Amino acid sequence: MSVEIVLKYKETTYRFVDESEYGPEEITGETAEFYWEDGNGSCDCNRANGIRKYCDPTFPEMNCGGDEIDLISVTVM
Ligand SMILES: [Zn+2]
Repeated sequence: MSVEIVLKYKETTYRFVDESEYGPEEITGETAEFYWEDGNGSCDCNRANGIRKYCDPTFPEMNCGGDEIDLISVTVM
C-alpha cells in the first residue's frame, strides 16, 4: 500500500508518498486516512515531520495544537 499525502502550508503545497507502515485496521484501528485526518498526523508537529522527511529537510518544527498546516488530501493507491 502506498499513500499520497498533500499538505498545504501558507502558499506552498507539499505532495509526498507516505511510506509509513500502517497495520491492518482491525488490529490497530489506524488507517492512513485516520492517522492524517484525526490521529497523530492531524497535529502540525507530525505534519511538519512528514514534510521534513519527504519534501523539505529545512521545514521548521511546528508546535502541537496549531492549525497552520492544512490537509488537502489523503489518497490510498
Ligand atoms: Zn503535536
